[in-house]
Amino acid sequence: MPDDFLPAKVEPAEINPAEIVSADCKPAGSTTRLSDLSASRRTFLGALGLVPGSGLVLAAGPADAGNLPVRQLAADVLVIGGGTAGTIAAIQAGRLGVRTVLVEAGSQLGGTMTTGGVDFPGLFWAWGRQIIAGIGWELVQQAAELNGDPLPDFSLSVGEAQHRHPRFQVRLRGGLYAALAEEACLAAEVALRYYECPVAVKPDGEGWLVELVGKGTRAEVRCRTLIDCTGNASVVALAGLPRLREQETQPGSILFTLTRPTTANPTGSLPRQQYVLGADPSTSETHTDANIRGRQAFLKMFRALRKQPGNEELKLGDLRPETAARETYRIVGETIISREEYESGKRYPDAVAYAYYPVDLHTPGGVRPQHLKEGTVPTIPLGALVPRGSRNLMVAGRCISSDRLANSALRVQAPCMAMGQAAGAACALAVQRGSTPAAVPLERLRQVLAKQGAIVPAGA
Ligand SMILES: Cc1cc2nc3c(=O)[nH]c(=O)nc-3n(C[C@H](O)[C@H](O)[C@H](O)COP(=O)(O)OP(=O)(O)OC[C@H]3O[C@@H](n4cnc5c(N)ncnc54)[C@H](O)[C@@H]3O)c2cc1C
Repeated sequence: MPDDFLPAKVEPAEINPAEIVSADCKPAGSTTRLSDLSASRRTFLGALGLVPGSGLVLAAGPADAGNLPVRQLAADVLVIGGGTAGTIAAIQAGRLGVRTVLVEAGSQLGGTMTTGGVDFPGLFWAWGRQIIAGIGWELVQQAAELNGDPLPDFSLSVGEAQHRHPRFQVRLRGGLYAALAEEACLAAEVALRYYECPVAVKPDGEGWLVELVGKGTRAEVRCRTLIDCTGNASVVALAGLPRLREQETQPGSILFTLTRPTTANPTGSLPRQQYVLGADPSTSETHTDANIRGRQAFLKMFRALRKQPGNEELKLGDLRPETAARETYRIVGETIISREEYESGKRYPDAVAYAYYPVDLHTPGGVRPQHLKEGTVPTIPLGALVPRGSRNLMVAGRCISSDRLANSALRVQAPCMAMGQAAGAACALAVQRGSTPAAVPLERLRQVLAKQGAIVPAGA
């Protein structure tokens, strides 16, 4: 069964207009007050213009006529891409007390999981035991609990049943997860910058100088460590390091929910996704193309479906705002995880997280998952998150260093979250110790991750 093939049970989201609360009607005391923040964080967030009433004048470079002034910012950890992995990386770094900035091209956190509509993260359990926890799991549980959504019965994830893995993915509301992730970032004093992208990444002493542009903004961030969580290794490419891409990539998908009136006489289950061949969100131009093709294909299919007998009253529940991509670029890391290593459950000496998913390569004709042998739980080495030949640069998420087939499994959300947490912790510890993330003693990194709730494999 494909990663995302869900039974056609559809629950439309309904909003009661009477219950819409204006954003500025917060109950007293619910906002973060300036006095709640530590002095160093106040200065940091104030310099970013993110603390109301801080009274600090924004530093601007010389403004050429017709150009936006350039804000000068500083961070210990700069995370680019606030998706599945990047959100967790930033929260982890922020919770460890270092100055953390999270830059996201879109309007909310969660990436493919929220904006892409793949709001059924997996897999946190394998063979009857939990293998991934930590910050991602914390947010997933919160999102399920707040909305009263049941968690799967993970105790059933044993033996052959583990091969029916979609049933062990957690069904969430993506928008709720995004809001909770944002709340966790604010609590960890992560400075959020939506609608921005890097346009240049240059070495700067021990760290990096990253130029950002956004809507009416230009900024230069001097950072000690940098984490690429764009899903496309875009920062790695800007830093001049190699990335890999297949000539033909797996199809992306646009996701939607359709509903029939309960009185209708259904003729088969309803589709929930439409493949978009060659979907590539790595540039604005290719992303525009993927979104247009996805939406136009949806319209064609929806119109055709409504003409079928029994479907005359078919309704759209939700059409996700972006086409989601399964595969674009991967980095060339210090370690490259091969399919054989993944499938044998290799225990790397620098393992920092577990992963579990079948090898799951989609083709235009569909997907046939290749399941792991009973009891196998692969691991993720820190070296696969470090671009080869780089310094103070890490990646987390689907562009992890791996061959194509290992990547088709590692790309799913729970491992992406676990990688994000490991990268965030490694960078924060590197800043605190004055070393590079790769030089942080593994035992220390594992201890810190475990203290933050992560499940960490012991090295080989
Ligand atoms: C159709 C489909 C079905 C799937 N099914 C499942 C499933 O059933 N279960 C499962 O667990 N996983 C599934 N996956 C896989 C999984 O959802 C993704 O691989 C994973 O979410 C990727 O996480 P990420 O953090 O690497 O990237 P993303 O979550 O995509 O995050 C990348 C973020 O970076 C931002 N960004 C990109 N470029 C820039 C830039 N230049 N500057 C600033 N920000 C930038 C993006 O806006 C985005 O928010 C599926 C994927 C797809 C596409």
